[in-house]
Amino acid sequence: MDASAADTPVKTVRCPTCGGPSVYAPSNVYRPFCSERCKLTDLGAWASESFKLPEKEGQSDPDFEQS
Ligand SMILES: [Zn+2]
Repeated sequence: MDASAADTPVKTVRCPTCGGPSVYAPSNVYRPFCSERCKLTDLGAWASESFKLPEKEGQSDPDFEQS
């Protein structure tokens, strides 16, 4: 066996946020994102989409208002 471990190609995936290469390995704790920024950006976008609800439509559900 030849020692080709050092030549092992790094597996990369496409970062869902910026579309750039993201190292898909335990060394990249933000995978599948390429960086912390991209991860936070993606989560922020998801949250803003989820919370894109109408403020009030006249009626308010008492159970829904509780936090
Ligand atoms: Zn990215």
